Amino acid sequence: MPVYRPRELVLERGQGSRLWDIEGREYIDFAAGIAVSSLGHGDPDILAALHDQAARLWHTSNVFYSEPPIHLAAELVAASGFARHVFLCNSGAEANEAAIKLVRKFAAEAGRPPERRTILTFEGSFHGRTLATVTATAQPKYQQGYEPLPGGFRYGRFNDIDALDAVLDGDVCAVLVEPIQGESGVVPATPEFLRALRERCDALGALLVFDEIQCGLGRTGRLWAHDWVGVKPDVMTLAKALGAGFPIGAMLVGEKASETMQFGAHGSTFGGNPLAAAVARVALRKLSSAELLANVERQSVTLRIGLERLGNASGVFSQVRGRGLMLGAVLAPDHAGRAGEILDHAAHEGLLLLQAGPDVLRFVPALNIGAEDVAEGLARLEAALATFTA
Ligand code: PLP
Repeated sequence: MPVYRPRELVLERGQGSRLWDIEGREYIDFAAGIAVSSLGHGDPDILAALHDQAARLWHTSNVFYSEPPIHLAAELVAASGFARHVFLCNSGAEANEAAIKLVRKFAAEAGRPPERRTILTFEGSFHGRTLATVTATAQPKYQQGYEPLPGGFRYGRFNDIDALDAVLDGDVCAVLVEPIQGESGVVPATPEFLRALRERCDALGALLVFDEIQCGLGRTGRLWAHDWVGVKPDVMTLAKALGAGFPIGAMLVGEKASETMQFGAHGSTFGGNPLAAAVARVALRKLSSAELLANVERQSVTLRIGLERLGNASGVFSQVRGRGLMLGAVLAPDHAGRAGEILDHAAHEGLLLLQAGPDVLRFVPALNIGAEDVAEGLARLEAALATFTA
């Protein structure tokens, strides 16, 4: 189906943060498969885990035990600092679907009627493309044409504490929020906003769900984006970086809702697949390491300074925002709406880049990217901006 419009190049192989197309042209990868290839391409430990597991056992489904998902779940619980249970699935949307079902069931079991099981999400959010997650995604462009949408969702203004009273009331059973909004332009939630959500959820008996599908697992320089704020969620969803390029998603559930999902309440044939879980175990170990998190911080400083310099020199973007290796360069008013064109110039210069909406260039490279690749990527961006403004 023509639902994608890929760039006119065919990628063939990758190593670290470099990729090559079928014509042998080399690219610096600042896109990482939309913040997924967290350890770059061809990481030897990931490859070894995949090869080893592939030679043992591919799939059992959840009617039998296999070892990798059990270990992975225990490791995620330990790493989270709040979770008691993990549900493994195959994508971010599926992790959020699981969370939507869980919070509704939690409310149902607390005796709330359906009209008091509203889920609050925020303008500019992105939570996936299934019917429920597209409804949670408070952006009309992802919803139009798919009506009737599932009921029981309400939208608030992101980072606006004063506007919360109007939307966060006793009918809300859960708040679903990204600690850093990705798709709509790399916008961090303020610490005050996340703290206010935590306090109000507690006061109302509602669950706080963090969607860390894009911002989690080391991307901000700490293992969890919410670590910067010190606010713990009741539920957290993960995907993207967890599989380092292999499809996997996870929902982590804390004490408060730990009894909600019992036998038969949810399921997935592929969820907890041994190949995916074996890869994710290695990814989680490597993404949690002090060395990797320090690299994120280091490369983030270089990238941010380099972007600010290029922004000032070219006048193409006026602001660089985000955290760690999740940065957005906001186009200056003169260039509003032209992010796609800049991506074309970047690819032409050998740099793979993403946009986050029409007005923001998005930088989400592998978290183990080296200084040389960051410098080369910036040099290629400089060349791309020169042809763009010429
Ligand atoms: N949540 C966030 C914050 C995301 O960035 C994404 C994907 O971009 C999703 C959910 C959906 O994940 P997936 O595309 O794996 O379904």
